[in-house]
Amino acid sequence: MHESQENNLLQGEQWRNAPMQKQRGLPRALALLWRGVCLRCPRCGARSLFRTWFAMYERCAVCGLRFEREQGYFLGAMYINYGVTVVLALLGSFALEYWTQPSLTHQLLVLWVGFCTVFPVLFFRHSRGLWLGFDFIFDPEMAEEPPHTRTLGR
Ligand SMILES: [Zn+2]
Repeated sequence: MHESQENNLLQGEQWRNAPMQKQRGLPRALALLWRGVCLRCPRCGARSLFRTWFAMYERCAVCGLRFEREQGYFLGAMYINYGVTVVLALLGSFALEYWTQPSLTHQLLVLWVGFCTVFPVLFFRHSRGLWLGFDFIFDPEMAEEPPHTRTLGR
């Protein structure tokens, strides 16, 4: 383990004292989902999920939480991304269909095909953050696991 990583993990011990760790129920769930939307680590709240637009870090640099817990873990994020895209496209197309002229049908079709192509790319990171937060809500043991019991991967 590099010295800088070790220092980060030592600082990461403070995550247990973070106010969010003491919350329970709905406020905790909402806080976890909000952290996901903001691309923050669900356990410590550090902004440490993504290295580039599409590439995630393996672990949180502050608390050491492993993000991809197993192969195919982020399949749930794809469901979230797909679901949000479909709901927004349906609601938006019904709304525009209601308020625009029938002659614009082809233009609307182009608009929504474009939306369904671009939006999932833009929402990709947030869907993964949301999935992490969502998983954290229902797997509190993962949240309570102290970071020093795991070994750091490279
Ligand atoms: Zn963290």
